[in-house]
Amino acid sequence: MDNSLQKAPLREARRALVFAFENGDGKNKQLLGGKGANLCEMTQIGLNVPPGFVISTEACLSYLENPDQQLPKGLMDAVRVQMTALNEKTGKKFGDAENPLLISVRSGSAISMPGMMDTILNLGLNIDTLKGLIRQTGEERFAFDAYRRFIQLFGKVALGIPDEAFDVEFDEVKERAGVTQDEGLSARDLREVSDRFLEVVERKTGRPFPVDPYQQLETAIKAVFNSWMGKRAVDYRREFNITTDMANGTAVNIVAMVFGNLGDDSATGVSFTRYPDTGENRLFGEYLTNAQGEDVVAGIRTPKPIDALHEEMPEMYRQLHELRSRLESHYREVQDFEFTIEKGRLYCLQTRNGKMNATALVRTSVEMVREGLLSQDEALLRVQPESLEQLLFPRLAPGPEHAPVARGLAASPGAAVGHAVFDADRAEELGDTGRRVILLREETKPEDIHGFFASEGILTARGGKTSHAAVVARGMGKPCVAGAEGISVDVQRRQALVGGRIIREEDLITIDGSTGDVYLGEVPMTEPDFTSELETLLEWADESSTLSVMANADTPEDAERALRYGANGIGLCRTERMFNGVERLPLVIDMILAEDQGQRESALASLLPIQRRDFKEILKVMAPRPVTIRLLDPPIHEFLPSEQQLTEELQRLRRLRDVVLGVDVLFDTVNLMYSEDAVQPNVLKLADPRLVDEAMTKKQTMLRKVRTLTEVNPMLGHRGVRLGITFPEIYAMQIRAVLEAAAECIKEGMEVHPEVMVPQVSTAEELKFVYNSVQDIWQSVEAQCGVEIPLKFGTMIEVVRACMRAGSLAEEVEFFSFGTNDLTQATFSFSREDAENKFLPLYNEHQILQDNPFEVLDTKGVGKLMALAIGWGRETRPGLKVGICGEHGGHPESIRFCNSIGLSYVSCSGPRVPIARLAAAHAALLDKGEVVGPSTL
Ligand code: PEP
Ligand code: MG
Repeated sequence: MDNSLQKAPLREARRALVFAFENGDGKNKQLLGGKGANLCEMTQIGLNVPPGFVISTEACLSYLENPDQQLPKGLMDAVRVQMTALNEKTGKKFGDAENPLLISVRSGSAISMPGMMDTILNLGLNIDTLKGLIRQTGEERFAFDAYRRFIQLFGKVALGIPDEAFDVEFDEVKERAGVTQDEGLSARDLREVSDRFLEVVERKTGRPFPVDPYQQLETAIKAVFNSWMGKRAVDYRREFNITTDMANGTAVNIVAMVFGNLGDDSATGVSFTRYPDTGENRLFGEYLTNAQGEDVVAGIRTPKPIDALHEEMPEMYRQLHELRSRLESHYREVQDFEFTIEKGRLYCLQTRNGKMNATALVRTSVEMVREGLLSQDEALLRVQPESLEQLLFPRLAPGPEHAPVARGLAASPGAAVGHAVFDADRAEELGDTGRRVILLREETKPEDIHGFFASEGILTARGGKTSHAAVVARGMGKPCVAGAEGISVDVQRRQALVGGRIIREEDLITIDGSTGDVYLGEVPMTEPDFTSELETLLEWADESSTLSVMANADTPEDAERALRYGANGIGLCRTERMFNGVERLPLVIDMILAEDQGQRESALASLLPIQRRDFKEILKVMAPRPVTIRLLDPPIHEFLPSEQQLTEELQRLRRLRDVVLGVDVLFDTVNLMYSEDAVQPNVLKLADPRLVDEAMTKKQTMLRKVRTLTEVNPMLGHRGVRLGITFPEIYAMQIRAVLEAAAECIKEGMEVHPEVMVPQVSTAEELKFVYNSVQDIWQSVEAQCGVEIPLKFGTMIEVVRACMRAGSLAEEVEFFSFGTNDLTQATFSFSREDAENKFLPLYNEHQILQDNPFEVLDTKGVGKLMALAIGWGRETRPGLKVGICGEHGGHPESIRFCNSIGLSYVSCSGPRVPIARLAAAHAALLDKGEVVGPSTL
């Protein structure tokens, strides 16, 4: 990730810096930016785009590198040549007082960064051209409206004057005119606004507003270039990992203005070729009659749904549909486009690939394959695996006591609960402390972006589904309710009013971005459902993948869920999780407290049927898929209370003992104090003192045991196979439980494939030791049950020595499973908790490490060890099955790496299985079976 500038290649070769829409290469987004390239392409395929030209990203980089802040030599000459051509194409003239040409100056880089960079509209206006504009259009009010917008936008973007300086003046004029809506202002009012705005500029900059159109243009070009390095844009690139390889510099698009605010036969709107929230194959959009484009995006007026255009301007509606199908069949992708209708003529102002939520992406991918627009592989690669997480989010399950207090537009689906905050800084502040936050604003602006990052969800009182809040939230996959007009926000007092109730800062609220409902307090959530399109897409993914996807699941319920998510089996069943149930823990504690092998065996005998039942259930759920059961791993003291807790409990018991004995004495004394026929006071015995003694003895034994089990570094101590070797009867019980469970299943006619896996192994001798026991029990269970059991024996690879000795370990086992949680700790010699709490964030900040290696597999270190181990393991045993069951097994980038080094499967938590299935397909499609060896890492 890099936000610095990177030199533009080939600049020395004096490549053209400016391209007319008729000539620019529509495929070269790096050079022309996404918007510019698409404007060129749309022009060239005959769509009605206003004429214009693009200044390349290379010009931008060259300008930004120049210490004197000078535009590259010859650029303005080339711009003038293009402007002359533009005059000819439009029949107007830039700067002309009679028939002026106005232009927009728009940013646009290779990767779309909506609202992050700057744009200036109506450029070319001054007091002379303004008169020309009035003559040209016959619309004085319109002309002054355009003028005041231009002065404000130019003032803000090019001269750095904050919006508030203009807003104050604007509000004053509105108040004087006695209107609340902008539309209520007359031409005369708007003239006053323009005059005041000109004064604002002069006051703030010490200079009059520039009147020379070419000077305006040059300043505007520089301002747009500068916005590439503006804070908003830099933050956005950092957050979304947009590297210089992906986008380097912004292009500037200079386009002849067309006006959607020239009366009732004019309009402006934003449209998607399909619904961006559901994927439905129907034109979606919003528009405003007699308005400029920014009004739609800024949420100043609430726009009308596109279907209303059918009534209002039927011919335009028909043309819009035609435009929609031409865009989709050309780009073979859902398009998000802007249009303007100027006096009954439809123009397309820009198009880009539509940002959709995961639901829409999945649905459109499947449907576009069926419509013949995409191939199956293209459809798969179109959906980023991580985005599926949105579909796996829980949804709201409001009970009768939960009534929504407001309803807005369902702008980005999913539900979120959080503490209300009313500005982005506060959202960030509270979010940093780990609180869940909902950003509640009147409307949002691009400068609120950091508040979006920190929030669980966004709620706005104004704006439509294409407002800033809606677009950005959808891009981020965060729930958003927009335009909840029943809410009035008072930022100063840090509160909002809704239906006579007050939401104060930090009050809990719940929003449902799928319905638009807003609730006070916290509403419970439910598990999400798989759609049939997602099922189809994931089936295609499985067809393309070479990696198999398994799940980490410890209980039959987890296994059932994993199966629903499409797991091919269980790659890791952590048996210790089964020991924590209420009815089991006492038995486990008995096993630990046992003074000798005999006592331990009798405790284990009580645990055996319970484990057998667990394993049988899981095998049954997964049959005939493999189930990999890991023998006990954690240090056994983890099942006992801490020393401190036991000491405190003992103290309490001691005090209780005195009280119990005291009550006993009172009880006997009362008998002596009252004669037989007198009414005796009621004294109840608290407890039998012997019971308290018994409890104390138990706790004392536990305390003694805890003290003997104390280790300096338990995670590197008596755990895993080390424990299995010192107390072989524990593993023996588990192995027997697995085999007996499998035998019962087989007898009931099921095909099951149990696998036993040994944790923390560092030498083949440990495996031999455990395998001896496996063999004995296996034979005995087969003989006893009269069935053959197909059991596989494998090892986890979690310690560095296991990697180095992989060749010899492979002699003892049929499969390896990389436990990359432990292997990462071992490779870095970092303890995860300490690292994540103390120094990893700093390491990431200083780019000492790019990622958290506990989340993103460290391919160069841990990954290299894995590749070595696979190579050595398969030298010994060519068909060796190799998997991963650490958390990285559910991380798309890490899965791609696992595929590249030849793993057979990945195993991850159930809800991540769909993500892993799609990631496995991506890996196969992108890497086409090429295997990376350790020497290339
Ligand atoms: C691992 O170490 O990666 C692993 C799966 O084991 P655990 O997380 O249970 O230590
Ligand atoms: Mg481990």
